[in-house]
Amino acid sequence: MIPWVCITGQTAHMAIVMRVSDVLLTTDPMQTRKLDQIDFSLDGIKIDAAGLREVGRLMVEGRIHIEVGDTGTTLSAAYTPHSNTMSVGQMDRPPSDVWRAGIVHESVHALVDLRKTRTTELNDETVAYIAEAIYIRAGGIWITPGDPAAAAILNAARNIVEGHQLHVNNGVELTSNNCRALQAAILSHTAYSGADRRRTTQHGIE
Ligand SMILES: [Zn+2]
Repeated sequence: MIPWVCITGQTAHMAIVMRVSDVLLTTDPMQTRKLDQIDFSLDGIKIDAAGLREVGRLMVEGRIHIEVGDTGTTLSAAYTPHSNTMSVGQMDRPPSDVWRAGIVHESVHALVDLRKTRTTELNDETVAYIAEAIYIRAGGIWITPGDPAAAAILNAARNIVEGHQLHVNNGVELTSNNCRALQAAILSHTAYSGADRRRTTQHGIE
C-alpha cells in the first residue's frame, strides 16, 4: 500500500507515471502473458506488445504525458494526440483488471499516434477495442460495462477475439470485413459518432 498522504507534487506524479507505465512494462508473468497476446493487424495496421512497451518507455521518459483528471462521463481514460497526453481516472485503489484494460486501450491510440498511422478514427477505435478485448480475455475474465452501448462494443470485440482466437494466436491479419459488427457498435455510441469520417492526426510523438 502506497501512503498517498505522504507524497506530494512531483513525487506523486512520478508514482502515477510508474503505475500507468507498469501496465505496459510489467515483469509480472501473468500480466506479461496478457500483454504479449496482443499481436494482430487490421487492414495492415499492426498492433503488438513490442509497440505498447515502447509507449510505456515514452511515458517513463515524459514524452507521453500522464495526467489524472476528468476523462468524460463515458470513458474511463482518454488519449489526446496533439499534446501526447493520456488522461486517466482517479486511482485511489490498487489497479484493477478493468483499469489496466483501459490503459491498454488508450496506449493503442498512443501507438497509432507514435507510428503516424494514416487511417480513420473508426479504425483507431477498432484496433483499440480489439486489443482491450484480447487483454481481458487472455486474463481469463470478462467485463460487462453498465452502459449498454459500451457493452455492445466490448461484446462485439470479444466476438472477433474468440472467432479468430486472438487471445491465443499471434500474428492474425484482420480486415474491416471481419470487424463490421464491431464498427457498427462503435458508430452507434454517441462518443464516436462520425468517427468513420474523421482521420487520425498522424501527429507523431517527438
Ligand atoms: Zn478509444
